[in-house]
Amino acid sequence: MMSGFRHGFHRLSSHLPEAFPEPFLVFGAPRIGEEEIAEVEACLRSGWLGTGPRVARFEREFAAYRRVQASQVAAVNSCTAALHVSMVAAGIEPGAEVITTPLTFCATVNAILHAGLTPVLADVDPVTQNIDPAAIEAAITPRTRAILPVHFAGRPCAMDRIMAIAKKYDLLVIEDCAHAIESEFHGQAAGTFGDFGCYSFYVTKNVVTGEGGMILGRSEEHIARARMLALHGMSKDAWHRFGDQGYKHYQVLECGFKYNMMDLQAAIGIHQLARVESNWLLRRAIWQRYDEALAGLPLGLPAPAEEGTRHGHHLYTAIIDEATSGIRRDDFLDAMNAQRIGAGVHYLSIPEHPYYQQRFGWRPEQWPHAMRLGRQTVSLPLSPAMDEDAADRVIRAVQRIIART
Ligand SMILES: *Cc1c(COP(=O)(O)O)cnc(C)c1O
Repeated sequence: MMSGFRHGFHRLSSHLPEAFPEPFLVFGAPRIGEEEIAEVEACLRSGWLGTGPRVARFEREFAAYRRVQASQVAAVNSCTAALHVSMVAAGIEPGAEVITTPLTFCATVNAILHAGLTPVLADVDPVTQNIDPAAIEAAITPRTRAILPVHFAGRPCAMDRIMAIAKKYDLLVIEDCAHAIESEFHGQAAGTFGDFGCYSFYVTKNVVTGEGGMILGRSEEHIARARMLALHGMSKDAWHRFGDQGYKHYQVLECGFKYNMMDLQAAIGIHQLARVESNWLLRRAIWQRYDEALAGLPLGLPAPAEEGTRHGHHLYTAIIDEATSGIRRDDFLDAMNAQRIGAGVHYLSIPEHPYYQQRFGWRPEQWPHAMRLGRQTVSLPLSPAMDEDAADRVIRAVQRIIART
């Protein structure tokens, strides 16, 4: 980055900042290597773009990474699809209740609704920002059939306590691992505790395929059904119909969905997955840099990872409480944008949104920890595509904005 001259110029001629604007630091930019580009090109040249050998390879390698059998995973075209199809494949009866967190992306709750089920929110722990096991237990009714924890920001949920509750009340567990591909709890991979683990390969996530997702299932029966449901409910996929073994008839066994991953997407994912650990190390280094540089400022920083866990370091969420930080969260976001840095909000709590208020009568105050976090949180850029200069730019911007107030 040719930033030395530009920074100097900025300081000297602040009346002309638009003369050499710094490049906008895009939030969550992926790190795409030559290998991904070559594999996508090879996939295009092969003429087989749809679900085929590259998806099968991506599934095998993902299963190996999470130390499960290849027959326990199914690639799909999003984590939203993975969540939806998991709940359908589990055969939960319509209208049954699924307990989840209010501090999540809307897809978590929408997937429950699309599966014909009823979401029930249980508040988060204010320190970990993960669903509070005690709140889960308090939310259980005779209609509860499943728990859907989200490993928020990459911090694994208290899976020992959640699995104990699931066992006690005979509930299914579907883990939303959209932030948590690398996360572990007591040496075990996030997504392998429950009946299903659902992963996202959306562009800002830790492994990227553009759009994409993966279902990991404890039971091979569940995952076989999920795989079939993800492709129209057909007994054979295209590779097995049109491949070199001759045309094969298929049968439609269920009314499924169109959720399959393409080889074109898996071509990116194969090489992203090969770099999952080195990218994790790059994000962790930025994380530690933020922790050290921001420690003295009047803003809240993420709690350290719990003993015996591995944090996925997906989101670095700071808390801007006007009373201590001297600035409102939304003004902080504007100030970051003025410094040409893209920040994020993960998330306004689910009951802040009109749809859920109107449909369920929810008010944010019913889940006070998620409400407060959602109104005060800000995610600083954290991506393996950032170099040290970019991280220091973020740090200087935060220091300036907080000090100015
Ligand atoms: C991104 C995300 C999803 C949805 O993932 P897609 O692959 O975009 O469908 C679900 N849950 C959480 C917590 C997410 O962050």
